[in-house]
Amino acid sequence: MRLLFMAGTGLTGNSCIYMVRLIISFFAGLLLSSVTNAQSRQDWADIFNRINDEVQQHSAAYKNLQAASENIGHRLTGSSEGSRAEDYVYELLKSYGLDVRYGPFEAESWSRGTLSVVINGKKYKAVALAHSPVKAAVSGKIVDMGNGLEEDYLKNPGLAKGNIVLASLGILPGSAGGLRNLHRSEKAALAIRYGAKGIILINSVPGDVLLTGTASVNGRLISVPAICIGNKDGMQLKKVLDKASATATIDMTNFSGKISARNVIGTMKGRGASGEKIVIGGHLDSWDLATGAIDNGIGSFAVIDIARAFKALNLQPERTVEFVLFMGEEQGLLGSKAYVKNVLNKGSADHTRYMLNLDMSNNPKGYLATTAEDEALFKEIGSMAKAIDSSFTNTFSSGFGLHSDHQPFMLRGIPTGSVSGSLSREALNCYHADCDVLGLVNEAELKNTVRFTAMLLYGLADTPVLNARRLSDNELKAALLQSGLKEALQISGDWRWDD
Ligand SMILES: [Zn+2]
Repeated sequence: MRLLFMAGTGLTGNSCIYMVRLIISFFAGLLLSSVTNAQSRQDWADIFNRINDEVQQHSAAYKNLQAASENIGHRLTGSSEGSRAEDYVYELLKSYGLDVRYGPFEAESWSRGTLSVVINGKKYKAVALAHSPVKAAVSGKIVDMGNGLEEDYLKNPGLAKGNIVLASLGILPGSAGGLRNLHRSEKAALAIRYGAKGIILINSVPGDVLLTGTASVNGRLISVPAICIGNKDGMQLKKVLDKASATATIDMTNFSGKISARNVIGTMKGRGASGEKIVIGGHLDSWDLATGAIDNGIGSFAVIDIARAFKALNLQPERTVEFVLFMGEEQGLLGSKAYVKNVLNKGSADHTRYMLNLDMSNNPKGYLATTAEDEALFKEIGSMAKAIDSSFTNTFSSGFGLHSDHQPFMLRGIPTGSVSGSLSREALNCYHADCDVLGLVNEAELKNTVRFTAMLLYGLADTPVLNARRLSDNELKAALLQSGLKEALQISGDWRWDD
């Protein structure tokens, strides 16, 4: 609107010619960009069709995940299996022709040792939650803290002190509406803050399924043992506690110490000279109770297969694309935090225009992003995907969320995105559990993740204009406050602001 403002001031002859030229070049530019836009959109349509055919016919995502599951097993960070998975993926990306490097990092790592849980003289099936102490032997009275939320402790602040807390991992059926559940690490931090000497979390999945995962908000060891028991055992124990007291003895040994692990990074240089890049990633690491087929085999091997397809089709979008397989996600986003620290040190955060994260992403029907500034572009890409396959319904949503590898990028103001799809109840019930195995993976849905995400990635990497840009610290703070994330970030030590 600057132009109109200038026209009202009665300028001389020369400046009139200058004004005319300005207006002509503006409209020419508009025409040109709409022409180049139309041209690039036409190119996109062709490219999206080629991506679609390439993936439908030649996807290796399922085959590669199967090989990893059968030949390596779980991919726990810091374990020999984890290290073999890093090598396996490095060789895969290299074999597809990418420029590959390791992103080594050091971190406190944890792995389970022995565990015995006896309640009222009876042995219970249980697993230790990660970052429990290296050695712990506690006995004590069990107190039922319901959902294990702050309000449960405020109702009876002294109850947990010196006792072993029993709480639900999820929100218990019959609880008041509108309760916001906390992550298991946040529930453990609360129990410790209220003086508990042990924590027993009841899995929400029906039956005897045991779940593991970190019980630490910051990746460091917690001071008391934390375990998970099955839903059937847990609900029965609650009934016992309604009528009588119960005591538990928890004995565990675990390993904790500095380990080195490696992110695996494959780069495809962009056509342009802007120095801008799009990062697409997913965590390769898994927990050790099974082979991490859903968490996060489907996400990480989809990222690898997108790289394969881009190379197979010799695609070269405007911006550089980095394919990153993170390690250490389960232990506290260790690999993605190390990667972002590196980006900040190199001063290339502003050039990282988007980070796309695939973590348990499956069978997409739409796209999502932290902010809605590029909604029109996401929808446009989605409508082209829908034109190829109408099962892709092209939804779009935006919002800030925590607890996966996009978080370290998001907390430095970098725009993030992903795809929104669905998983079967059976797959969800095996989250971090001893049943998270290849049989849960639907090959056709995995291909859908590869092809529809590849289209989004190509559009973001090739479009001349991206509206979303890195948020300033104040803008980010305001957005996190508005998203109600301050408390969770304060608990985890990721809230960088004084107030
Ligand atoms: Zn995951």
